[in-house]
Amino acid sequence: MELLTKLEILADAAKYDASCASSGAPKRDSVGKSGLGASTGAGICHSFTPDGRCVSLLKILLTNFCQYDCQYCVNRRSSNVPRARFSPREVVDLTLDFYRRNYIDGLFLSSGIIRSADYTMEQLVQVARSLRDEHQFRGYIHLKTIPDADPRLISQAGQYADRLSVNIELPTDGGLQRLAPEKNAHTIKRAMGSIRLAQEEAESDRQAPGRAPAGQSTQMIVGADDADDRTILQTAQTLYGAYKLKRVYYSAFSPIPNSPSGLPAQAPPLLREHRLYQADFLMRGYGFQAEELFQAGGDLPLDIDPKLAWALAHRESFPVDLNRAPQALIARVPGIGMRNAKRLVELRRSRAIRYQDLARLRCPMDKVKPFVVVQDYRPALADSPSEQLRRALSPAPVQLALL
Ligand code: SF4
Repeated sequence: MELLTKLEILADAAKYDASCASSGAPKRDSVGKSGLGASTGAGICHSFTPDGRCVSLLKILLTNFCQYDCQYCVNRRSSNVPRARFSPREVVDLTLDFYRRNYIDGLFLSSGIIRSADYTMEQLVQVARSLRDEHQFRGYIHLKTIPDADPRLISQAGQYADRLSVNIELPTDGGLQRLAPEKNAHTIKRAMGSIRLAQEEAESDRQAPGRAPAGQSTQMIVGADDADDRTILQTAQTLYGAYKLKRVYYSAFSPIPNSPSGLPAQAPPLLREHRLYQADFLMRGYGFQAEELFQAGGDLPLDIDPKLAWALAHRESFPVDLNRAPQALIARVPGIGMRNAKRLVELRRSRAIRYQDLARLRCPMDKVKPFVVVQDYRPALADSPSEQLRRALSPAPVQLALL
C-alpha cells in the first residue's frame, strides 16, 4: 500500500482520540542544543482548537487493525473500514519529514492492538526510541500506552515520551464492561498507577531516567453510555487525585458506520463536551469540587457556563465585596478569572477598587456587575431572582466563554 494511502487511513482513524494536547511539556533541550527539534530559544509552539484539541502534532495510529471489539470504536475488529499498518520505520521517517517541513511540532502515536498488548507496545516504544536515540529528535512525543502491556514496556515508553496517556474510555466500570468487555478497568488504572509511580521515583531521584515529564492524560468518551455529567466529573476528579493526571479529555461520542445497536444513534451536543471542559477547568484551576457544580440533576446546564450556574445557585455568597473578600472567593465571581482576582487583590493594597478598575481589567461587565460590590457601585440586580438573572445573562447564542 502506498505510504500516502496509509497516512490517510491512519490519520483519519486517529481523529477520534482527543487526548493529544501537549500543554505542560517542559522544553526538551538536546545535547549541545543542536538536536533536531530542540526547543531551546524559540520554544515549541502548539496550537489548540477552541475545545482544547491540539492541532500541531502528527497524530496517527501505528495501525488500525485491532483484535479488540470495543463497540464505540471505529477500529474495532468487526468494523468494516479500510485497514492499514505502518512499520515503526515509516512512522519515524514521516515524523522527521513533517518536522523538517515545519508542519508539526511533534508526534502523537496510538495504535490498535495487534498480536498482543506487549507486541504493540514494543512497536510504539521502538518508534520513540528510534526518534530519540538514532535521530536525536527533540520534538514532542506523546505515546498512547496499551494498559495490558508489561509495565516494563510502559516504563520504557516513559523514558522517551514527553507524555503518556492511558484511556479510561468510559466513566464507569459498568460502562466499560458493557461496551468494551475485553478491556479491564483495573488494568487501566494499574497502568496509570505504574506511570505515576515512575514519575514519583524520577521526581525524588534526579539520577533516574526521565519519566514522561509532561505527565499523563486520559480520555473519556461522552455520550456513548448513559453516564451523566456528574458521574463523568466525579470520575475525572478521582483520576486527578489518585494519579495526578495532567488532563482528562472529554470526547463526544461520534456515531460510526454500522454502529452496534447498543450505542446511541446520535452524537451528544458538542456543547456538552464544551461544558465538561469548562467544569474540568474549574476543578483544576479554581478549587471547585465536582459535586459543587451540580444542583438538581446530574447534567451541567447547556445554556450557561458552570461557573455562572454555580453563582446563580449560591446567591447567598454574592455580591462579593472586592475590597474585602478573599482572592479565592473573588475568583468564583462569574467573569473574573484567576489572573484578575490576583490583580484585584494586589490593587486594593494601594487603594480601594472602583467600578472602572473592572472595566480596565477587561472584565465582561454585564456578567460581573450583578455579583460584585466595589467602592462606588452596588448592583441593582443583586436582589433579582436567579431565573431573571439567568435570562439576562444567557442571551442567544449561548455564551461559550469561561473566565
Ligand atoms: S482497543 Fe482501542 S483501537 Fe482496539 S477497538 Fe478498542 S478502542 Fe478501538
